Amino acid sequence: MRDLQQHSARPHQTRLREVTMTTPTISTTRLASRASELKGSVIDASTALLASQTHDIVRFAMGAPNDELIPTEDFGRILGTAAEGRFGYGASEGEADLVDQIVRYQASRGIETSPERIVVTTGGMQGLDIAFKMLVDPGDGVIVECPTYTNGIGTALSYQASVIEAPMDENGLVVEALPDLVENFGKTPKAIYTIPNFQNPSGTTMSRERRELLLELAEKWDAYIVDDDPYGALRFEGDEVPGFLELSPGNPRVIQVRTFSKTLAPGLRVGWMELDPSLRDIAVNAKPAMDTCTSVPMQKVVSDYLAEGKLDEHIDWLRSIYRERKEAMTQALAERFGDDILSTDPDGGFFLWIDLQGKYSGIDTEELFPLALRHGVAYIPGPAFTDSGSQRHSLRLCFATSSPERIREGVERLGTALDEFAEQ
Ligand code: PMP
Repeated sequence: MRDLQQHSARPHQTRLREVTMTTPTISTTRLASRASELKGSVIDASTALLASQTHDIVRFAMGAPNDELIPTEDFGRILGTAAEGRFGYGASEGEADLVDQIVRYQASRGIETSPERIVVTTGGMQGLDIAFKMLVDPGDGVIVECPTYTNGIGTALSYQASVIEAPMDENGLVVEALPDLVENFGKTPKAIYTIPNFQNPSGTTMSRERRELLLELAEKWDAYIVDDDPYGALRFEGDEVPGFLELSPGNPRVIQVRTFSKTLAPGLRVGWMELDPSLRDIAVNAKPAMDTCTSVPMQKVVSDYLAEGKLDEHIDWLRSIYRERKEAMTQALAERFGDDILSTDPDGGFFLWIDLQGKYSGIDTEELFPLALRHGVAYIPGPAFTDSGSQRHSLRLCFATSSPERIREGVERLGTALDEFAEQ
């Protein structure tokens, strides 16, 4: 994998991003300055674009488990009976039985925690929102991986953070590069936003050595690590790399953002944060102004599902499916493209990342996108995962949602689009 950072001038709007911008019908001069930082989601835009297409499309764009991988029958059963009496308001910190199950679930993965460290959130997104709300004053520096999760950058920007993009390679964030970036920025960052396992979008995992170095730098800079890990439980190959809190137990600088969106279902909107008790109290205080509490029936669905002991088995099943799909994709890519692409080879999660090279070098993946769609394949262009608009010759593919057969078909369609574009 190439050093993933390629610079270009900002400000920049991707074409998909433009879809999310509407022309104001009244003057916006009376809006708060932060309103102009609310960029909308490229992911939502791509979903809307795909929904408007009537021909067959292999969908490598969205990162969500598809319906056949969601235990809907169990959810329906729990909602139909056990959730009775659970339709009122709940506690801001989350329902006690779910918090209890989260503690047990983490213990089963070798992670020691306690209820005083947990707050239930409305998906991982709310965890990110609370984290940046707690940390960022306008102009504060937030280091982000480049490329990184679009809505992660969006959330930091919504609090008027100054985003500092840092390079990635096959071992995740290039932590060694951070001191120079911080020196150029001129002040120490408030936070480092990282997705250490099977990163979205690159699929890479941060090495243990880099995790240790990042902990040291956070200490030196008096900064927080916002550790966003929706995919960590979905390892299908290789050895576990210890998490930040396993390397530094109880470290108050580590704010963990977690979710059941990828291991169970995104529509549940149930996640949690795990953080130092003093910070956790502030996170709980943020909830009433946001959503009062996370949906109580949906918390019940998750806590009962966990109490029935079904999650481990479900995750094992998902891992075997995702392993097969990832192999189908890497194999099809190698056969179809050879050295004309550089692809990551993730040990888990949903995504892999492609740099175009050889006969495809110089192709802009945003410009390619409409042609790919016409040929019946969808992906997310690289710039969508940046603040700067870099990564123009790269793209993200999600292997998690299609069967191996559809994956092979989609890779073939991508090849047809790339060949046609290269010949123009
Ligand atoms: N962080 C990352 C890295 C993600 O990929 C996602 C979901 N795509 C989220 C956070 C948000 O998770 P949720 O859907 O639970 O809000």
